Parts: sequence; C-alpha cells; structure tokens
Amino acid sequence: MFRIAFFEAFVPDSLSLNREIIMKEIRTRIAPSPTGMMHLGTARTAIYCWAAARHFGGKFLLRIEDTDQKRSTDEATQVILDSMKWLNLDYDEGPIYQMDRLDRYKEVVDQMLADGRAYKCYATPEELEQMREAQRDAGLKPRYDGRWRPENCADKTIPEGVTPVIRFRNPDDGDVSWNDAVYGRITISNRELDDLIIMRDGIPTYNFAVVVDDWDMKVSHVVRGADHINNTPRQINLYNALGAEIPVFAHLPLINGPDGQKLSKRHGSVSVMEYENRGFLPEAVFNYLARLGWGHGNMEKFTRDELAEIFDLADCSRAAARIDFKKFEWLNAQYMKEADDNRLAELTRSRIEKRGGVVENGPDLAGVCGLLKSRAATLEALAESAMLFYKPLERDADAIKASLADGNREAFEAFVTELEKIEEFTAPNIYGAIKTVMEAKGIKMNPIAVPLRVIVCGTDKTPQIDRTLELFGKQEVLARIASGLAMA
Ligand code: GLU
Repeated sequence: MFRIAFFEAFVPDSLSLNREIIMKEIRTRIAPSPTGMMHLGTARTAIYCWAAARHFGGKFLLRIEDTDQKRSTDEATQVILDSMKWLNLDYDEGPIYQMDRLDRYKEVVDQMLADGRAYKCYATPEELEQMREAQRDAGLKPRYDGRWRPENCADKTIPEGVTPVIRFRNPDDGDVSWNDAVYGRITISNRELDDLIIMRDGIPTYNFAVVVDDWDMKVSHVVRGADHINNTPRQINLYNALGAEIPVFAHLPLINGPDGQKLSKRHGSVSVMEYENRGFLPEAVFNYLARLGWGHGNMEKFTRDELAEIFDLADCSRAAARIDFKKFEWLNAQYMKEADDNRLAELTRSRIEKRGGVVENGPDLAGVCGLLKSRAATLEALAESAMLFYKPLERDADAIKASLADGNREAFEAFVTELEKIEEFTAPNIYGAIKTVMEAKGIKMNPIAVPLRVIVCGTDKTPQIDRTLELFGKQEVLARIASGLAMA
C-alpha cells in the first residue's frame, strides 16, 4: 500500500498549515549509537519512525552509528537489536553499520577535498585550545577561525608529524532555515557556525556520516531527539554542499522525569530492557511510549496497528513529555488483564523457576495465570503470586490450630465431607460445598474459608479460594487437608 502523504507542518509565522504534497516514498530510520542501553527516548523515536513509515506504506531502517570507536561495543549493539525485537519494531532495511561504510565516506570526502568544499586542517589540539582561550578572553564565542582554509595558509608550512583532520567549509554568510515538522520554522545564521570536522583518522564524525547515510539511504524524514536541533543547520549545509535533497526534519522534545528534570536513572528505569526484566509487556511499553509526547484525542490505549493507522508527526507535542511511572505501570496492568493465559504462562515460567518454584510439580500454569493476572501489574508480580502453587508447602501448626478454634473444626470437617463428595472438582462445585455447610450450620464463610486457606495454602491470604482449590485439584487438596488436620 502506498499512500500519498500530505505532510503538514505548523508554520508559526503565518499561523497556517503548510501543506506540501510528498509523492516520494516515505523512508524513516532510527540511528542509535551502540554505547550503552537503549534509552526510552530512543525507543519512542523508533516507534514514531516506525509508525510514520507504516502509515504511508514506506520503509523503516535501522542504522547502527558505531563510529565512536572508544564508546561503541558489541554488547550495546546487541542490546539495541534485542530492544527492537522485544518492542516488535520490525525494520525493512538494516541493521546497517556505519563502520562498514568507511570507503563510502572517504569517497565523499575525497570529492569534497577535490572541489574545495572541504580542506585539511593541521591545527593541533593545544593550538586550538589557545585559540579558544584567546577568543573567550576577548569576550567572543569560541569558534574555529578558519586558519587552515586554503586562502589563509598559502604561506604556512605543513607541520611535521601532525595528522590533519578534514574540515567542511561552512558558508560564511546567510541563514540556514528549515520547517521542522514539530517545532515549525527554525532559522540559524551561518555566523553561528564554524568549519566542522567531518573526518578524523579516516573515521567520519557524526554530523558527516549521518548526512551521507541519510542521503544514500534516501531517508525522507529524519525524526530524532531535540538534542540534535543544533546539529541540523550544519547538516543542512552539508546536504547543500553535496547537492543532496534535504529531508524533512522532525525533532522530538525530550522526555522528562516526574519532577520536570531531564529523565535519568535517578528517576527510575530508563532503559527498554529494564522494563523487560521488570516484567512489563512489550505492547504496554510500546503504547505508553507512543502516547508520551504524541496524542490522538483522548485515546490512551491503542495497538501497533492502530498507531500506524492514525499516526501523524504533526500531532507530536512541542512541550517536553513528563513520564509518570505509576501510569506506566497502570497501563501495563491493563495489558496484563487482557493477555492470553498461555502467553502469560510462557512469559512467567522462567521467573517462577528463578524463584525456586517447580512448575511441573504444580497445577497448569496457564490456569494459574488466568486466576492471578487481574491482580498482577507485571509478570514479576504474577510470578511472585504464582509461587503459592509451585513452592513446597510450609505450614505452621499453631496457625492451623488457631484457625480451627472456636468450633471452626466441626464446620470445617463437615465441609471436608462435602468436598469429598464432589465429582467434578470445579470452582462452582467447591463453592457449593462451602455454601451447603454455611446454610446447614447458619454460619458465615470465614469459619470454613480461613482454616481452608491456612491448611491448603499455608497462609490466610490467597486468591479466590474456590478457584485456587480447583487449580490444585481434588487429590492434592484432600491430601493437604489430611496432613494439615493431623498437625492440629
Ligand atoms: N546516533 C545519533 C544518536 O544516537 C543519531 C541521531 C540522529 O538520528 O541523527 O543520537
């Protein structure tokens, strides 16, 4: 399916909508640097890129920006791949690794050097520091002064032993301007910019590699965090120098913590895989992140497909989003309630085993998940409550005695007689047995239910008791009752 995209961007100066018909294929990309975890903000950007591509029947790419050799690691790359997979963010092209494209960057640099759009700079770091200090002393903003621009160094000798960096010859005058799909028109004077380094020791810098890649990969919409707004004018100048078509830029406000400060570890979990560890469901994380900074009326809960259907970059907010961890967990709880019992069983099994539970020894795990899921906000909470069924039974003789005091024993034994008669050991029949004794003896439920919980489960706090018993099965329940009564 290929839709024609009406790309709408808010234009503050005219307070009107700028409608531009885009006939080309919509191509978006997420381009994380593999230097640590996958941050929630990166995941949210990936979701919007994915949704924009899917909305228009376009393509979504994954590019690993691994040119920072000191900070990039294979583990971090794997974390990105795992996070994408976990969130079900399927990409059409990639992963493309920048370190596999060094020849291409060199080719472009060589061409730019030959055309005079780039030049070699032999300034040493110490020399540049001195330059900046002098500028600061003179009350100026530190910026590279163009000392190795060809016209400024005709009489200079090339210092020995200095490996030059390659700098882009930025235009001196005029403005760079773009109509940001989220922030509207942004204009920066070229006087604010200097000749940025595009290659060092054969490795491209971020601003250069990103432009060559987005150009080569025909990316139509560059969607990324607002922390990159300062880079965009530099990149637009590079596009112009390369004669490349400039994509649409959409910068997303950052995500803040509940206190309004930039989201960080001190607020809580900020990495995607931490949510996996904590037992969140991927569709809940997907939904929560998508809603964080983007909205469609009052819609709070939506599937991937729904998001792809209704997503529009123009609906992204310009205000920083504030994460609300309670709401996040609440949303997860909603997804837990609706999740398929077999799937929950699959996702919870290892978490129970990690706690020492033996699933084979207990009742059907899907049935247990079905009983417990409506009161478990996460898979971890579900595993914790499921332990009741899979850990060895531990009982306290005094607690059993106490539960059977005050004539409760007689009522309880009458109930056991009813229980033994049940042929089909289902929750309604078990409840029927309790009710029969309650009515016959004119008593409330507690004189039966409390000893029942303490004897069968070793605690007086259990899920709905008739359903709990049904899951354990008749044989196990009667065996536990016999041994429990023998303790009292
Ligand atoms: N590698 C950059 C980052 O992780 C990508 C920025 C961009 O999307 O252009 O922030």
